[in-house]
Amino acid sequence: MFFGKYGGVIVKKQFAVIGLGRFGGSICRTLSEQGAEVLAIDSDEERVNEFTPIATHAVIADSTDESVLKSLGLRNFDHVIVAIGDNIHASILTTLILKELGVKKVTAKAQNDYHEKVLRKIGADHVIHPERDMGVRIANSITSTSVLDYLELSDKHSIVEVIAGRKMDGKSLSDLDVRANYGVNIVAIKEHGRINVSPRADQTVHDGDILIIIGSDQDIDRFKKQLLDNE
Ligand code: ATP
Repeated sequence: MFFGKYGGVIVKKQFAVIGLGRFGGSICRTLSEQGAEVLAIDSDEERVNEFTPIATHAVIADSTDESVLKSLGLRNFDHVIVAIGDNIHASILTTLILKELGVKKVTAKAQNDYHEKVLRKIGADHVIHPERDMGVRIANSITSTSVLDYLELSDKHSIVEVIAGRKMDGKSLSDLDVRANYGVNIVAIKEHGRINVSPRADQTVHDGDILIIIGSDQDIDRFKKQLLDNE
């Protein structure tokens, strides 16, 4: 618990990362760098030693042992990330115990589609499939020359960064009326390195501007085909 600038109490979110391989390790490192409270757990002593100077606490523990997870007080954590990949049995059992303990939010890493299905069935709130998700993301940005980056929000919605071309050049957002015409929203425009978040309707788009758009994949596809060059 911390006292904020104006005297109020700031309660930091508490995270636990179980499994400190490349994936879990990277999550643990990043959360810690962002100043979050992180409990790092792994059954491998060497991995735990590596994270002792990085995480708030690092402990050697077998996460498939319910009594261990209870004694670590995991039920009080805001978000637990299960980053065990290869040992599917351990990943499933750990996720199940965490949900039974009443952990509010559990994110689990899946090795394959069946693993993902089981994790969802037993109550994982979010399932990540890093290799597949990254593959989709990269494929989406390389199949289209005007797409710079892509972030999947759900299996049907995304945020995409695209380059405006000649078809949009000199037109204002109200001229383009992309929400009515395509069902997508332009949430930000980057021009000469400056970003304008929530642009006004009278803002003009120029060839080469970077647009950040949000919408359903179907609508984004239509927008890309009809409004972007090189599509
Ligand atoms: P990555 O693909 O993220 O690099 P990895 O291949 O290094 O992962 P995984 O088998 O996916 O390793 O497991 C990640 C970590 O989870 C390992 O450090 C492993 O020791 C740990 N781990 C596996 N089972 C358990 C368990 N039951 N309790 C705690 N930690 C575990």
